[in-house]
Amino acid sequence: MTKTMIAVDDLTKNYGKKEVLKGITEHVDQGQVIVVIGPSGSGKSTFLRCLNLLETPTSGTVSFEGQQLNGLAEKDLDQLREKMGGMVFQSFNLFANMNTLENVKLALMKVKGLSDAEADEIAKTQLAQVGMLEFANQFPDSLSGGQKQRVAIARALAMNPEVMLFDEPTSALDPEMVGEVLSVMKDLANNGMTMVVVTHEMGFAKSVADQIWFMADGYVQETGSPEAFFANPQTERAQDFLGKLLNV
Ligand code: ADP
Ligand code: MG
Repeated sequence: MTKTMIAVDDLTKNYGKKEVLKGITEHVDQGQVIVVIGPSGSGKSTFLRCLNLLETPTSGTVSFEGQQLNGLAEKDLDQLREKMGGMVFQSFNLFANMNTLENVKLALMKVKGLSDAEADEIAKTQLAQVGMLEFANQFPDSLSGGQKQRVAIARALAMNPEVMLFDEPTSALDPEMVGEVLSVMKDLANNGMTMVVVTHEMGFAKSVADQIWFMADGYVQETGSPEAFFANPQTERAQDFLGKLLNV
C-alpha cells in the first residue's frame, strides 16, 4: 500500500507583490523519487524551501504523513524539520574550521543532543556510506567539490530524515565530479529513500525518477513518468524547455 508522505494543497508563496508559487497541489509517496525540472526562476528552490518549512507558505497547506503543518507551534515544527529536513544545496555549506567528521557530528550533538561517542558512530557510518570515511580528518578546503557534496549528503543523512530534498546538488561541480555525487544519490534512491530532487541532469532524471514534475511560472505544469514526459511532453512550455536542452 502506498503511503503519502508529503502533500501540498494549493500552495502559494509571494515575496511582496511577486507571486512565485501560484497554487501547487501535488503529493509525494513514501519511497518515491520526484525529479523537479524547469527553467531558472520558475520557483523550484522556493518550492523545496516550502516543503522543508524553511519558508512559510503565503496560502495553502503542506502536510507531512497526514499531519497539517500550518499553524503548528515552533517546537513541533522543529521536530518535523528534522524528519523532513534532509536538505542538500548547490553550495555545500560545510564549516571550514571543522574537519569532515566534525561537520557531520555537529547537528547530531547540538540539535539531537547525542553524546560525542554516539555522534561519532553515526557520522562514521554515514561517511562510509558516501565513500568519505577515509577523509574524516580532512578539512573542507582540502576536498574536491564532489567530495564536499558527498560530505554534505552524509551530514543530512546522519539526522535520519524521512525525506531528502536536493536543490541542484551538482550544479556547482566540475563535470568530472558530477557522476560521483549522482551515484551516491542513486544508491539512496535504490535503498528506498523518499527524495525530491531539483536538477538539470536529465540522465539522472530519466534513470532514477519515478515521476518528473515540470515547473514553469510558479506552477507544476505537468507530471509524468520519465518515459512519458521525455518522449511526449504535453504542454508547450515543457516541449519548449526540452527543445532548448537538446539544442545546447
Ligand atoms: P528557481 O529555483 O526555479 O530558479 P526560485 O525559487 O529561486 O526559482 O525563484 C523564483 C522567483 O522568486 C525568482 O524570480 C526569484 O527572484 C524570486 N525569489 C526567490 N527567493 C526570493 C526572496 N527571498 N525574496 C524575493 N524574491 C525571491
Ligand atoms: Mg533554484
